[in-house]
Amino acid sequence: MRYILDLHTHTVASGHAYSTLNENILAAKNKGLKLLGVSDHAPKMPGSTQEYYFGNLKVLPEVIEGLRVLKGVELNILNSAGAIDLSDQDMKHLDYAIASLHIPCFENLGATENTNALINAMKHPKVNIIGHPDDARYPLEYERLVIAAKAHNVLLEINNSSLAPVAVRENARENYITLLALCEKHQAAVIFGSDAHYISDIGNFSNVEALVEAVNFPKNLIVNNDINRLWSYLNHSKEV
Ligand SMILES: [Zn+2]
Ligand SMILES: [Zn+2]
Repeated sequence: MRYILDLHTHTVASGHAYSTLNENILAAKNKGLKLLGVSDHAPKMPGSTQEYYFGNLKVLPEVIEGLRVLKGVELNILNSAGAIDLSDQDMKHLDYAIASLHIPCFENLGATENTNALINAMKHPKVNIIGHPDDARYPLEYERLVIAAKAHNVLLEINNSSLAPVAVRENARENYITLLALCEKHQAAVIFGSDAHYISDIGNFSNVEALVEAVNFPKNLIVNNDINRLWSYLNHSKEV
């Protein structure tokens, strides 16, 4: 199985990542990717960039060095109502958005309210992906999450960095085993994300690949090998 797209990557603009967009693009090309998404942290993440950065991503060409480049963001979910930290105007020209729970921006409210936060964020027309729903510090009601993701045409991310030995998120492997079984049960699609904060991780799905093989997860529920399939989950298929 060849995975040709990575939509969860960070640049120096995020404040705690260490490569430029062009460096990431060259790394993606060298890895054989066909499509790279740039998804820097939205403004509420301490040290990240500000609104204008996202509003102005429209100046980037669609193809750079022969690689299709999508312009995105990793939003912070702020409360159980699913509030996020960029305006519709700031996101107007973005190709996609990931929405995630992050420790500096969201306090654990318990499984029911944490799940409500993710589901309410999914309802936003710009949100296409829920990032790393895997962290024991934010317990979730996984079956409700999977059913909602499918209903809202939103992809759940299987995050390679969460499964790395240096990961700060807790218990990701066990939580993904639960999540993947429910995705199979409900035929909900997932997307692999590297969550690269440096070039060497661009397109790196090694931890995720080992896990999906171990649980024999159906390949037809993974969107990373088919750009057309991915397209059906992105913004042009949702009303803004
Ligand atoms: Zn980050
Ligand atoms: Zn994140």
